[in-house]
Amino acid sequence: MAADVQLSLLGRTPGFPAAVPLVGTPHRGASDLGALARAVEECGRCGLRAGATHVVPGEGNPAARLMLVGEGPGQQEDLTGRPFVGPAGQLLERMLAAIGLKREEVFIANVVKCRPPGNRVPADEEAAACLPYVLARIELVNPEVVMLLGATATRALAGKNLAITKVRGQWFERAGRMYLPTYHPAALLRDPSKKREAWEDLKKVRDYLGLPG
Ligand code: SF4
Repeated sequence: MAADVQLSLLGRTPGFPAAVPLVGTPHRGASDLGALARAVEECGRCGLRAGATHVVPGEGNPAARLMLVGEGPGQQEDLTGRPFVGPAGQLLERMLAAIGLKREEVFIANVVKCRPPGNRVPADEEAAACLPYVLARIELVNPEVVMLLGATATRALAGKNLAITKVRGQWFERAGRMYLPTYHPAALLRDPSKKREAWEDLKKVRDYLGLPG
């Protein structure tokens, strides 16, 4: 592994939050996922809320062993209030099925909970404003593995200067939890040649969790 992408340094990954900020953050007092979802629903910490039809807080198994973090809601997610329900979500479900998991067995979330206009990439300030919710969600679900889907999730949770093309498929550990950056399903739809690498990443998760082959 190249020195600039050594991600297994416990608690010292460049750009990774030093600790989940439990004080002074919008999820303070959120004792469970429902309370966290309500805090997100009432949120106006960044300008994305004004253009959103629905806030998309994330959904899934509250005790999932695997959590997936994507970028943000698209048009169909904004209309339904559910994450990954469009074509990328359908591909994600097929990817999960390939390692023996159903959608409802994992927890699915995004870095930002409100749709960026025109599906643009969230600005760093927007991702930073929403990041405490993601961190709180990870703490509450307490998964063994978090897959970071694409560049925005990797930048937000692994380090803002890390390129997904360089770090995908490389585990890093934080506070006893394993993280694995991989491509976003939407990127796989745009460039199917990336699916082989994505499958390699999925197999790593399958093997780490001891799922049947
Ligand atoms: S994107 Fe996140 S931080 Fe911004 S308003 Fe929506 S819930 Fe709040």
